Amino acid sequence: MSFSEVPKPWAPEGACNDLAQDVASRLFVHPANDTEKALAKAICGNCVVRAACADHALGIPPEAIAGEIWGGMDRAEITARTRA
Ligand code: SF4
Repeated sequence: MSFSEVPKPWAPEGACNDLAQDVASRLFVHPANDTEKALAKAICGNCVVRAACADHALGIPPEAIAGEIWGGMDRAEITARTRA
């Protein structure tokens, strides 16, 4: 099973799912700048499944993370935590 196939039963409850798909994609998958990253992270801050999302993120191979935000963290933050 590839990492992308790991079940994410908590995902439908994510605050990012309340956004229009194009907005969610822009903020959480392809943030254009630090302002958009900060907005995505702020949304994660009010997400009821943030802990589960963050745990999931810590299992993602760093090389598989591009510009995404997971559990309120960007690639650098996820990588730092997985190496701690
Ligand atoms: S923590 Fe952030 S990325 Fe994860 S499900 Fe919640 S809003 Fe989406």
